[in-house]
Amino acid sequence: MSTIFSGIQPSGELHIGNYLGAVKNWVELQSKYECIYCIVDYHAIIGDFEPESLRRRTRQMAVSLMAAGIDPAKSTLFVQSMVPEHTELAWIFNTVTPVGELERQTQYKDKSQRQESVNAGLLIYPVLQAADILLYRADLIPVGEDQVQHLELARDVARKWNAKFASEYFPEPKPLLTATRRIMGLDGQAKMSKSLGNTIGLLESQEDVWAKLRPAVTDPARVRKTDPGTPEVCNIYNLHKAFNDAATVEHVATQCRTAGWGCIDCKKVLMDGMMRELTPIRERARELEAHPEIVTDALAAGAAKSGEIARRTMTTVRETMGLR
Ligand code: SF4
Repeated sequence: MSTIFSGIQPSGELHIGNYLGAVKNWVELQSKYECIYCIVDYHAIIGDFEPESLRRRTRQMAVSLMAAGIDPAKSTLFVQSMVPEHTELAWIFNTVTPVGELERQTQYKDKSQRQESVNAGLLIYPVLQAADILLYRADLIPVGEDQVQHLELARDVARKWNAKFASEYFPEPKPLLTATRRIMGLDGQAKMSKSLGNTIGLLESQEDVWAKLRPAVTDPARVRKTDPGTPEVCNIYNLHKAFNDAATVEHVATQCRTAGWGCIDCKKVLMDGMMRELTPIRERARELEAHPEIVTDALAAGAAKSGEIARRTMTTVRETMGLR
């Protein structure tokens, strides 16, 4: 069975953008592949952060993932810093990665231009990403289009290390391009993101979700209830596609085009669809928060399992390279 590796930043509670864009897909992959899911806290320390907040956000992410359906009985779920071999392998890979290749990474170019002082972590974190994947010799990586460049670097690192040490130990991981959704924020302007304050949290109460959904941006052509709209330009319509069945989505489009519904009517139908999916997730999260030992034990078991694979990999890598 192919091994899948995927990581997620410890950004606290999931929002519906990262749920629909990644995690819902991870849940489906659990029954088809050997899945390793990692909360990548080593990656989260590149920018400014508060240690207590990092700890809290890491924990909240674990709760969110398990509530959303990541099942520790089916997949391996752990926190990256619980398996320090990630950073050891990253150091080794640093020695086969040309700096020029790292400087060409789009994310590095974007971020370094916006910052006065750039730390080395920002430049080399794609190498850590390569180590995350290759430590488990994962052969399939679920990626969105914006991550393909990092995967290309991981493939390149595997090739270079193998060539340097006349080995075929590391597989070249392949992208698993899946039908994930790019979810726009409630402002309808940019991708849903906590830093932009345009999110709906996965675990928010019904009242809080409605308070955000009610004023959310729709088709600007619908000034009055009697003005017909174009569903394709409306972010609410896109969310209907994620949370409602095809027949409901078609009905929404008709009601929008004919001004049969006002936008509030339309949002109420969306709200029903969202709550059908999100209420059980919220209830599971409440249960996990009431029994924190379930999450603690799951992460410890995940770290023990992934740590065993990681130690095996590092033993081979060190032996091959003449280390110790
Ligand atoms: Fe958007 Fe629905 Fe309003 Fe149409 S009726 S503009 S799809 S919220």
